[in-house]
Amino acid sequence: MSRLVSLTRALEQAGFVVLDTLETDAGLELAVGSAGQPFWDAVTASPEWAAVPDHPVDAFTRRAITDVLAAEGAAGTDAAARVTFVFDADAPNFVVLWTQRFPRIAQSDLGLMIHPKYGLWMAARAHILLHGYREISADTDSAKGLKQQPHFDPCASCSGKPCLCACPVGAFLAPKTFEYQACAAHLLSNPACFSAGCDARAACPYGQSWQLPPDQAHYHQSRFRSGFPTHS
Ligand code: SF4
Ligand code: SF4
Repeated sequence: MSRLVSLTRALEQAGFVVLDTLETDAGLELAVGSAGQPFWDAVTASPEWAAVPDHPVDAFTRRAITDVLAAEGAAGTDAAARVTFVFDADAPNFVVLWTQRFPRIAQSDLGLMIHPKYGLWMAARAHILLHGYREISADTDSAKGLKQQPHFDPCASCSGKPCLCACPVGAFLAPKTFEYQACAAHLLSNPACFSAGCDARAACPYGQSWQLPPDQAHYHQSRFRSGFPTHS
């Protein structure tokens, strides 16, 4: 089994998805994200869920991916791996980094990253570089990212752009511009808007089956709303 196949399986078993891969002069790069029920089940069952209540998702992500890479090393398959987590203090802007590098990841007209399989219903978690790794296997979904292919760019040809007009308060009237204060104000009186996962995101035809589990949507909504006053 190739290093890429082994690592992809281990990451998936831990709850993550490999969104794309890219071979560069430095080695093999992996865009590691989260999507759907498996990630949420892994987070809420993890020790970090109770032990790190302020940042359980980040704490779980750091520990779980570190464990996967350590296990790969213990199995003798490790070419030195460097991981950058999206929440690291010195992390680059992942929207810029990934959409410029990985052909299967684009910036949507909502400003969020979009993927051909997961649509808008995925999140960046970590960027892994396997130094000097060259072996290519074609038998994984993620390995297809190694092949030359045109950059995914669904919004350029999307007729009607339903995502931009689905928000009841027009938080996305202009492409790649999110009026988050309008969204937050609406959620104070209509929390169900986000609890269902955001009408704007749900209007996009990509990744429909990967919409957030309801409890995960509610969790993110609560975190988002907690940053805004409940009265003026
Ligand atoms: S609905 Fe169309 S314009 Fe909006 S994010 Fe999806 S593909 Fe892009
Ligand atoms: S959660 Fe509702 S108010 Fe906020 S951006 Fe999405 S559709 Fe608009």
